Amino acid sequence: MLGFFSYYHLSIFLFLSLFLSLSHPCFPARTIPDQVTVITAESDVRNNASTWHEFTRFLDAQKGSHVNGMSDLKKYLQRFGYLPGTVPDNTNTNTSTSTSTNSTDDNFDTQLESAIILYQTKLGLPVTGKLDADTISTIISPRCGVADDAAAAAPPPPHGNATLRTTRHYAYFYGKPRWVRTSPMTLSYAFTPNAMINYLSPTDVRRVFRRAFSRWSAVIPVNFTETGEYLLADIKIGFYRGDHGDGEPFDGVLGVLAHAFSPENGRFHLDAAETWTLDFEEERSKSAIDLESVATHEIGHLLGLGHSSVKEAVMYPSLSPRTKKVDLKIDDVEGVQALYGSNPNFKLSSLLESENSYNQSLSSTTSKLSNWPFFFSLILFILFLPTTI
Ligand SMILES: [Zn+2]
Ligand SMILES: [Zn+2]
Repeated sequence: MLGFFSYYHLSIFLFLSLFLSLSHPCFPARTIPDQVTVITAESDVRNNASTWHEFTRFLDAQKGSHVNGMSDLKKYLQRFGYLPGTVPDNTNTNTSTSTSTNSTDDNFDTQLESAIILYQTKLGLPVTGKLDADTISTIISPRCGVADDAAAAAPPPPHGNATLRTTRHYAYFYGKPRWVRTSPMTLSYAFTPNAMINYLSPTDVRRVFRRAFSRWSAVIPVNFTETGEYLLADIKIGFYRGDHGDGEPFDGVLGVLAHAFSPENGRFHLDAAETWTLDFEEERSKSAIDLESVATHEIGHLLGLGHSSVKEAVMYPSLSPRTKKVDLKIDDVEGVQALYGSNPNFKLSSLLESENSYNQSLSSTTSKLSNWPFFFSLILFILFLPTTI
């Protein structure tokens, strides 16, 4: 009898495991990261970043909901271009003066639902129109200060093939501005005097920026050179705190990390309140931000790229703390090459190959992981087999 019941239970267990292996995704849905909770505790400054974290209480809200503080989320969506209102304007030197609309109450109305659908589409998230865990998690992530709507839809690539076209999600600033110089084009850059970070070695910072610029110059026929003549430099780089005179004040630890202006403005500002690092081994802070990743992203803006909806792309708007993302993806390369042409030494095919092999290894890991409940139950079955017969 005992054997029969053990077999019976094992069979049910096996059936359930098989069912789970077929019906569950290989990875659990992304949940709200707790790292941001820890990070806000590190800062005694009540800033935008801590306000963003409070958006976690809107989890699962949808049209018809009324939650106190929802108006702050509406301001966030206005700030980044998803609701009409005051939006930073990175396309010129003037501060945007457009006024806010009636989106200032705490009601989850139709307009907010449309804004969230737009946000989910732009950020490459599942489009649900609700404040699900994925959406909230992305909203509270540190990000670039350039508004997402500053970018116009990208036209078809001039020489793109069908395969590449399906992966194209890059974008440009309105009017598709780019630098115009005689060929071969060289753009100079300089660091703003007295606007550097004192805990980072200037030599190391220069090396990091040189590497970030070289990633872009490897794919387009544009060279970058550092100059000591700050006033004459095409690109001016500096670290600033709070309100620094361009109408887009920084917000303290995390939240907005940096912003840069479209061609041919050349201003590149980083939030001095961040814990910038060049090496995560040396900097153990949970809120540490990789300088090279942000530099590479902002140079994309300086060249004329907007935000991409490809999560892996350098031009994706958000970047988690303690994350390094410096390698240009095909989406970044296609976007910038449509503006400037290709560097004759650059081979798109080799980048395509490396991305394909990465995706293949990822999918093979995924398929192995997705079968684990089945293999687990098989092993259990074999282990229990002698005792049940
Ligand atoms: Zn950006
Ligand atoms: Zn600025």
